[in-house]
Amino acid sequence: MQKFGGTSLANSESREQAIEKVLEAKKSYDSIVVVVSAMGRLGEPYATDTLLSLIDIQNTKLSDRELDLLMSCGEIISCVNIANLLNEKGLKAYALTGGDAGITTDNKHRNAEILNVDTEHLQNILKEGFIAVVAGFQGKGTNNEITTIGRGGSDTTAALLGAALNAEAVEIYTDVDGIMTADPRVCPTASIIDEISYTEVFQMADSGAKVIHPRAVELARRAGIPLIIKNTFSTAKGTYITQYNKLERRTIAEKLITSIAHRRSRVQFSVDGDIDDEKFFGQLADMGVSIDMINIFPQKSVFTIEDEKKSVVLELLKVFNAKYTFVESCCKVTVIGERMTGVPGVMAKIIKSLSSSGIKILQTSDSLTTIACLIKESDLEKAVKALHKDFEL
Ligand code: ADP
Ligand code: ASP
Ligand code: MG
Repeated sequence: MQKFGGTSLANSESREQAIEKVLEAKKSYDSIVVVVSAMGRLGEPYATDTLLSLIDIQNTKLSDRELDLLMSCGEIISCVNIANLLNEKGLKAYALTGGDAGITTDNKHRNAEILNVDTEHLQNILKEGFIAVVAGFQGKGTNNEITTIGRGGSDTTAALLGAALNAEAVEIYTDVDGIMTADPRVCPTASIIDEISYTEVFQMADSGAKVIHPRAVELARRAGIPLIIKNTFSTAKGTYITQYNKLERRTIAEKLITSIAHRRSRVQFSVDGDIDDEKFFGQLADMGVSIDMINIFPQKSVFTIEDEKKSVVLELLKVFNAKYTFVESCCKVTVIGERMTGVPGVMAKIIKSLSSSGIKILQTSDSLTTIACLIKESDLEKAVKALHKDFEL
C-alpha cells in the first residue's frame, strides 16, 4: 500500500518521481494499491483548496453535499492521471473512486465517518494483475452520494484500505524524509526519527503535526500494520511506526520528550464568572465548537478554540450577556513523550525554557504523554527552537 500526498504530485516531474516509487515496489510485491491526494496545494489547478476557491464559501448557498462533490474531483483527477502514467510505463493500472474501492461512510458531508469497507471489487481488480489507483479522502454515503472524510483524509484512506486488505505495510510518501522531532518549517534543526510508536505519532498528529493524519495512525495501530513515512524525492529510509515493544532501536523512545508539535490560529477567551457554564458550554458544543483548552475557576472561565469558530463564540457570549476579553493569533505548542508520565520536573523545564526566551505562557493543559502551552503565534519559532534545544532533541 502506497499513498502519495498533494506535494508529491504537484507537477509532472514530481509525479514522475512518484511513479518511480511505484515501479520500485512492483519489483517486490505482486499486489499494489496506490492511494492519491489531489495534485498540489492552493494555486495549483486541481488542488483541493484551489477547487474550493471557485466558491465564496462564507456566502454560498451550496450544501456540504455539493462542496463534497467539488472537492472529491481533485482526487479523482489525480487517480486517473496516475493510472495513465502507469499505463504509459507498460503497467496495468485501474483508477477507482473511494466509493468504487468499497468505502462506505455516513452522510455527514465534509467530515464523514467510515461505516464499512468492502474490498471484494478491489481484490478482484488486484487478482487480474492491475495496480489499483484509488482516489483518497472520499467515500460514498449510505445513499450512494460522494462524501469526503475530513481534510488530510487521504492518509486515512490508505490506512483503512491497508487494514482491510491486511497489507504488509502502508507507505505514506510526502515531501520530508520522515517524521521529525519538530516541523522542519518552524525548526530547521529538527531531525529525523527512525522509529517511533503509534501512540507517540498519534499524539504528534493530534497536536497538529501535519505530516500524518491521526485517524490514519489509529487505524494502522488497531490493525497492527506498520506505517512508514517516506520522501517521494529522496531515497531516505523514512520513519517506521509500530508498537513501542516492537521497536528495534529505542534510542529515541528512551527519551523523556521525543517531539514538539504545534497548532496555529487559536483564540483564547476569558469570561467573567457570572454565566451559567453548563448551559454556555453545552450550547457551544451543540453549535459544533470544539474546545481546545479549558480552565474553569469560581470567578472565571478561560478557554481556547480555533480561530474559525471565533464569530460563533462571540455571538453566543452576546446572547449570554457575558463580560469577556479575548486574545487572538495564539498558537498551541505541545511537547510529546510516552515516558514523561509521572516524571516530575517536565513542566518546570518547559516554563524555564520558554520564560528564559522571553515567551509568555497564556494557558497550559496536559495529558499522560503531552504538555501543551498556549503562546502568541509571533513567539512560535522562538518557542519551538528553545524547547528543541533544551530537551536536546
Ligand atoms: P502531503 O501533501 O504529503 O500530505 P503534508 O503537507 O500534509 O504533505 O505533510 C507534510 C508536511 O508536514 C511537511 O512538509 C512538514 O512541514 C509538516 N510537518 C509538521 N510536523 C512535522 C514533523 N514532526 N515531521 C515532519 N514533517 C512535519
Ligand atoms: N486533498 C485533501 C486535502 O487537501 C486530502 C489530502 O490531501 O489528504 O485535505
Ligand atoms: Mg497530508
